[in-house]
Amino acid sequence: MTRRATKRGAERTPLDGERDVLVCGASFAGLAVARELAGSGADVLVIDRYEIGERQTSACAAPTSWLENLGLADAIRQTFDDFVIHTPHGASRFRLPWTFSTFDYRTLCALLWQQCDADFETATVHGRRGDTVLTDRGALRAPLIVDALGWRRVLARAGYQPPDAPLSRGLEVHPGGVGEDLEIWIDRRYVPAGYGWRFPAGSELRIGVGSFDPRFHVKDTTVLLAEDLAAEPVGFQGNWIPHRLRAAVEDDVFFVGDSAGHCLPLTAEGIRTALYFGIACGRELRHVLEGRATRAQALARYGEFSARHAWKFAWLLRGQRLLPRVPPRLLAGALRIFGQRSFTAWGFEHYLRVAPPEFALRGRPASAREPATAGV
Ligand SMILES: Cc1cc2nc3c(=O)[nH]c(=O)nc-3n(C[C@H](O)[C@H](O)[C@H](O)COP(=O)(O)OP(=O)(O)OC[C@H]3O[C@@H](n4cnc5c(N)ncnc54)[C@H](O)[C@@H]3O)c2cc1C
Repeated sequence: MTRRATKRGAERTPLDGERDVLVCGASFAGLAVARELAGSGADVLVIDRYEIGERQTSACAAPTSWLENLGLADAIRQTFDDFVIHTPHGASRFRLPWTFSTFDYRTLCALLWQQCDADFETATVHGRRGDTVLTDRGALRAPLIVDALGWRRVLARAGYQPPDAPLSRGLEVHPGGVGEDLEIWIDRRYVPAGYGWRFPAGSELRIGVGSFDPRFHVKDTTVLLAEDLAAEPVGFQGNWIPHRLRAAVEDDVFFVGDSAGHCLPLTAEGIRTALYFGIACGRELRHVLEGRATRAQALARYGEFSARHAWKFAWLLRGQRLLPRVPPRLLAGALRIFGQRSFTAWGFEHYLRVAPPEFALRGRPASAREPATAGV
């Protein structure tokens, strides 16, 4: 018996009714919310247009401590102590005070889902009317609704549309191959404002280009970077990336992850923050379910929690705006100075504190879903 109710074609039966919590979106943010609700006894439904873990949308690199603290280490493919930034005027190597790991998206989502006890249905969300979420399979009601649907912010009054919205764009290819380092290219040959990357993940390379300017098309230069690295441009995947924090609550809905603009500007690191704010949101929802807070209080507290981070996002956004303006030769020199170990350690420790990994350990759920293989 399969654990998931993935419906295709004629199997896509009508879906309606009321739940205690409706989590829309089953990627990093949505699964982190649902994980916090495990053992609460609440009737929690998670919906997504795809099966859990079906569609990878990122290069899947995150601080190792975050993955370990959430019990996700089995998804790790490769771990890195340092990373390299290439500019037209040379390369600089940075020794990290903590490590980054690339991971397998499908495995990571499965591991997160094992720690949930919610129900799952595939359904495409079209919008919302009050407490009712409208999907292609019917209307679902819940007093507690979470939008973890990514950059489009589907359940908001006004969604986000490129190219006018504050969005970056990213595209990558996934050829086979091996590598030793996390590598970044800050080079206008590939993108006037942004960077390219090559992240090894075991026997696969994730090579891509991200542009802070949504009008710059990154397909040609993603291919160019892959070719420069003697890799085949195969397995394309891309998405829009929000680079400005948005309101985390609106009309009694909780917004988490990219839907709330929780992806960090400058670095476009959005997995750790989706997990972090997902946990924060889940904890507030749990207070409501346990009768320790009203929905209004939970909305206010979660909204304030997210807003308290605004200054950190604002600093990174300043860095994002400054980076393309720095002359390449000056940038290469500055990177060499920043490459000194004490400087790098200081900078990266502060950067990790934006969403610290210990947050995942506080108040972990009391009970967890049985392993997916149990009873099969
Ligand atoms: C090319 C690229 C590389 C990246 N690399 C990294 C990286 O290495 N490290 C990092 O930290 N960040 C990276 N990011 C950013 C990161 O991917 C996002 O910030 C992160 O995925 C946000 O997680 P989320 O759960 O909020 O949203 P998403 O991961 O976008 O998940 C949204 C979910 O909602 C579902 N959904 C969307 N619309 C609907 C709908 N209408 N109905 C039903 N379901 C819907 C989707 O299927 C999906 O499962 C990268 C982004 C891109 C584009």
